[in-house]
Amino acid sequence: MSDIPALLRFRPGVSVADLDTDATPGFSGSKADAAPAQASLNERLAELQELLYANWKAADDRRSVLLVLQGMDAAGKGGIVKHVVGAVNPMGVRYTAFGKPTDEELAHHFLWRIRRALPPPGHIGVFDRSHYEDVLIVRVHNLVPPQVWGARYDEINAFERELVDAGTSLIKVAMFISLDEQKKQLLERLDDPTKHWKYNPGDIDERLMWPAYQQAYQAMLDRTSTDHAPWHVLPCDRRWYSRLAVTELLIEALEKLDLSWPPADFDIEAEKRRLFDS
Ligand code: ATP
Ligand code: MG
Repeated sequence: MSDIPALLRFRPGVSVADLDTDATPGFSGSKADAAPAQASLNERLAELQELLYANWKAADDRRSVLLVLQGMDAAGKGGIVKHVVGAVNPMGVRYTAFGKPTDEELAHHFLWRIRRALPPPGHIGVFDRSHYEDVLIVRVHNLVPPQVWGARYDEINAFERELVDAGTSLIKVAMFISLDEQKKQLLERLDDPTKHWKYNPGDIDERLMWPAYQQAYQAMLDRTSTDHAPWHVLPCDRRWYSRLAVTELLIEALEKLDLSWPPADFDIEAEKRRLFDS
């Protein structure tokens, strides 16, 4: 399973149209096998997150991690947040969902609201949609002129370079489901009264624009998968797999930070004596 990150890494030349969204790269087991695997990965993830937080608190380590989740409706972003991010201590997480920009946000540069949501030192930031909407939905719906969105790829690369240089590890995940699987998911939302709140009639309109989105996703991957901030392409038809894979991506990024428990900056024996005497 530890080769999942390498297997998912976007390779130049790969076409979004050819993706096997039903695949489970790096995991040969079934859904039943995924459950115990997920449980043990969750434990490891929780420990690594605590290490990150502890090193900031006790040793002023300024590093952070930022998970960027980008995908079409019903790709399973919500499930990743609930099951994967939910496995760690919320104290150390900064979660932001990016919807349609407010008037205030629109009055600023597109990265303005993004900068305000960046994870503080020691934290794991989670972007549920992201600055990439500004080259996806914005491009597909011509919300700004082509020369404006066209310039954003380079702007995003420079911005992410700045983040990485400041000590933030970026994990960018592009989530793909097949149109059939998306149909199934949307139908489930319609058939289940406890899921009506998740249903948005506009999702069908976006679905009909899939060919245009496919082009926009392709351009996003081709132009913003850099050495400092590579994309990972995640097959999402099997939700149990996509959750397992994102957990692996987070674990890999945190392990690269090579963290250990910060040593006490006080005299332990002296503190024990003081405690007994108190
Ligand atoms: P779910 O996948 O569960 O439906 P969601 O992420 O779609 O959740 P919503 O609040 O339903 O959440 O939708 C957010 C909408 O805002 C999406 O259609 C997205 O494309 C749109 N959006 C996000 N950022 C921008 C942007 N910069 N400009 C225009 N639209 C945006
Ligand atoms: Mg939606």
